[in-house]
Amino acid sequence: MSGDGRIDKDTRGGFGDTIAAVSTAPGEGGIGIIRISGSRALEILGQVFEPKSKLKGGGSYGWSSSDGGNFSERRIYYGYIAEPASGERVDEVLCFYMRGPRSYTGEDVCEIQCHGGGVPLRRILGLVCECGAVPAQPGEFTKRAFLNGRLDLAQAGAVIDLIRSKTERGYIAAREQAEGRLSERVREARGVLLDVLAEIAAMIDYPEEYVGVVSGSGEDCGAHDFGDMDGALAHVEEIVCELLEGAAAGRVVRDGVRIVIVGKPNVGKSSLFNALAREDAAIVTAAPGTTRDALEVWLDVRGVPVLLIDTAGMREGVGLDEVERLGIERAQEQYERADVCLFVLDGSEPLSEEDSRIARDLDSAKKHIVVVNKGDLGKVVSPEDVETLLGGNAGFRIQDLGFSGQGKGQETDSIDRENLAELEERLAEVLLGGVSAGASLLVTKARHKALLESAAAELKEARSALDSGAAAEFFEVNIRAARGALGEIIGEEVTDDVIDRVFEEFCVGK
Ligand code: GDP
Repeated sequence: MSGDGRIDKDTRGGFGDTIAAVSTAPGEGGIGIIRISGSRALEILGQVFEPKSKLKGGGSYGWSSSDGGNFSERRIYYGYIAEPASGERVDEVLCFYMRGPRSYTGEDVCEIQCHGGGVPLRRILGLVCECGAVPAQPGEFTKRAFLNGRLDLAQAGAVIDLIRSKTERGYIAAREQAEGRLSERVREARGVLLDVLAEIAAMIDYPEEYVGVVSGSGEDCGAHDFGDMDGALAHVEEIVCELLEGAAAGRVVRDGVRIVIVGKPNVGKSSLFNALAREDAAIVTAAPGTTRDALEVWLDVRGVPVLLIDTAGMREGVGLDEVERLGIERAQEQYERADVCLFVLDGSEPLSEEDSRIARDLDSAKKHIVVVNKGDLGKVVSPEDVETLLGGNAGFRIQDLGFSGQGKGQETDSIDRENLAELEERLAEVLLGGVSAGASLLVTKARHKALLESAAAELKEARSALDSGAAAEFFEVNIRAARGALGEIIGEEVTDDVIDRVFEEFCVGK
């Protein structure tokens, strides 16, 4: 670690190795890619690659291959990967070389495109490793990109979210971070805090000459003129709070939520599940108790990844067979793990003791949407009845849902589409807490949220100390802490452990 808190790459064990990994997903594919990064990348490629025809002229970066040709940077070559010792051809490939620092990792990088089966990929990777590369750790290519200054930590951490995003909205949130939009805001805030710290230093060193105006140029972000120190801190607080505002929605967009459908048997849970899933994923029959275990499906609800879970009906365990009892137990577990619950009622019959029992067991700390179903059969359940059932709990929202005029026994495709769209709208509202899924910059990671919260708390303390007329020495420490927390987001003030944690969740080959 160097004096300013940055990681000093020379002190990092193994960073000098040339690494290699299969970068494409496991399984069959038209093409598979092996990536090699490090100072020996080109030399290793030279040992295993046999060009189809003689390499001509080319740039000065090339190594001298067996046929005496040159290998130029950023050109695609066609040929074979062959065992260096026996000359046995392993696969027909395309390959290319990018010279560092103009590469993803900032080091020399070679890529081999071969046939996408497990066997050619394994054999080529094996050969590359025999020639001197070491197998890459998960996320090691991106980690090197960070350590070489190609990406900051927020950008690097977003790369895995790009790969794993479950909805287009999640992908956009990840892409914005990978492009550096979060980092920009964080740098701006850190720049202002640096100005404030410089001013505090001036106040302490030259108290007589101090005039009390922060108007410096921020780190990487141009000039600031806030008139006074509190104004400068308020500006930073505003940036931090703005980022925090979208954090709950950001987590939901990135990680998704679990939504469980509960209700007594035969109220239409499976029909609702199928209608939302837009497929016949759950068996729908007129006999109570058909869904004996939970069914799950991932959905994109207005940009939010939703794991929708249909459960066995929640009803008293008396007189049920073992399988039914287990199904009901499982429904309870699913309910406990869910973020949101859709509580389905049959609107065509008076509410029963069974509905009340389920309502009594609902956890008021959880988000619920009550779906009043079967309205097409003649609705006898009123919003007041539902309110009474739920004991006036304001946390519940009521959604009317029903078939469009068809009688009992109709299958799922007859669920009223308009009502379904409304239900999805309500769900998105509940899930995103009022933040539009289309809202621009979203903080999606719990780590970033925690650091922003810590920066906000430090800023609040600094501002109240400033307000109470405390000497600058007393709140300087809070400003430094806030700046440090923000620095951790982009990796400017960060320890090896934190970096390791960021890359732990990556896959091999990225
Ligand atoms: P579950 O046991 O709660 O999962 O209920 P199902 O989804 O299996 O539905 C039970 C029966 O009610 C089936 O015959 C469905 O076709 C029917 N059903 C479900 N929802 C409605 C509705 O809104 N209107 C009418 N008329 N029938 C419905």
